[in-house]
Amino acid sequence: GRWGFGLAGELRQAAARSPRRIAVIDEQGQLTYAQLLDRAERLASGLPVAPGERVGLLCRNSARMISALIGVTTLGADPVLMNTGLSPSQLATVAKDQGLRALLFDDEFAERVALVEGVEKLSEERVEELIAGAPPVPRMPPPERPGRTIVLTSGTTGVPKGARRPTPGGFRPLCSVIDRIPLRAQERVMIAAPLFHTWGFAGLQIALALRATIVLRRKFDPAAVLDDLVRHECTGMIAVPVMVQQLMELPVASAKPALRVVAVSGSALPGGLATRFMDRYGDVLYNLYGSTEASWASIATPADLRSAPSTAGRPPHGTTVAVLDEAGGPVPVGEVGRLFVGNEMLFDGYTDGASKSMHEGLLATGDLGHVDPSGLVFVDGREDDMIISGGENVYPAEVEGLLADLPQVREVAVIGVPDEEYGQRLAAYLVLREGETLDPEAVRDHVRRHRARFSVPRDVIFLEALPRNATGKVVTRELPR
Ligand code: ATP
Repeated sequence: GRWGFGLAGELRQAAARSPRRIAVIDEQGQLTYAQLLDRAERLASGLPVAPGERVGLLCRNSARMISALIGVTTLGADPVLMNTGLSPSQLATVAKDQGLRALLFDDEFAERVALVEGVEKLSEERVEELIAGAPPVPRMPPPERPGRTIVLTSGTTGVPKGARRPTPGGFRPLCSVIDRIPLRAQERVMIAAPLFHTWGFAGLQIALALRATIVLRRKFDPAAVLDDLVRHECTGMIAVPVMVQQLMELPVASAKPALRVVAVSGSALPGGLATRFMDRYGDVLYNLYGSTEASWASIATPADLRSAPSTAGRPPHGTTVAVLDEAGGPVPVGEVGRLFVGNEMLFDGYTDGASKSMHEGLLATGDLGHVDPSGLVFVDGREDDMIISGGENVYPAEVEGLLADLPQVREVAVIGVPDEEYGQRLAAYLVLREGETLDPEAVRDHVRRHRARFSVPRDVIFLEALPRNATGKVVTRELPR
């Protein structure tokens, strides 16, 4: 049988069929598929780790990260992808909670892993020694049990949880995504989203399956990324919405990348941004709504985004999205309810044994949303983020979308803050474009013109930047109160 259709199996096939094709290009250089496999297999045989044990990876996007990730699964151990935004104490907690045997890290994080104890720490130099010292491996025999990748939730609400990624039983689940997001075999794809996040990881799975050439940069710098896209002739890009937004802040460049597909996921894509991006780069933007637990729920194509810029599109083949009320019954078309999703790639539970709430085989996403009469899905916000002001429900995302349309506004976040009279009131945090000014009353007026009174933010606060995590999500608890 085809054991572990996971990354190790994919890489092996790619290296067997296309050994000389470039697999990865990063700031360090490039590796062919054969070279990438060689590094992964040597690392697998050199790592002081047994099958079934867990190895933390604290790395930025690089060929090194990919070979480590695949090397660990090749020996039947489980990689735990660590968010590079974790603090030293969070790292120590996660290492303990996850029972890590080893922690492989980029040297830039050497100080940050200082508090991690009882774990074999593998610096860049140590990893190179292990690879160099490993016998030139024949082919590693497939382990009894292929390694299972564990992705950490971002931990915006406490200690990050480990979520076990499912190993696709074949190419079919990924096909349903590629069917909507038409990346092609052998194309050059920039994975700008962090590889430690579900979306970057999914991008890696897809790219390997297509034997693409993956272009990486350790940190997202919009000008450098644009330059890479042109220089390496990338036609595909996997990103999070805030990256697209930062690309749009750059002046229109004389050399434009020949992009065919730019696929974003991980947080809401503001409709105005989607339209502006496509006006500049053509109808190449795809918006995937998903999560670590659900993998994906729906995908918007450029045509969907042209017809309804803030939509999250439609469920791909084999995926079901349902909008249910509190009692688990379907809500009428167009009305907001709890979003549930079913597909072949739901996660395999949290490592602490907790599970997510399910309803008749469908997973509760924790999001609220609606489906319009044409079947387009809209994510209206998180259940936890919903603001109840004077007894009325307000979805911050809706007000955020409205404020993002103001030409002076670059970034916006809306939250609920305690209010003696109304229970909660809205607070809007705005980052303005360079040289722009805006009167708080003009902000309120704009909302008043489009929405009911209870959606109008009483507090309007201007900031230099919004606090964001490594995947570009606003960390609301870090907003000044
Ligand atoms: P967290 O700890 O905040 O759950 P995370 O960054 O670890 O998150 P994800 O699992 O990727 O993790 O977050 C998924 C959530 O992000 C979804 O449930 C949804 O709220 C939001 N989201 C993802 N993609 C989209 C999208 N395309 N449109 C709107 N919201 C999205």
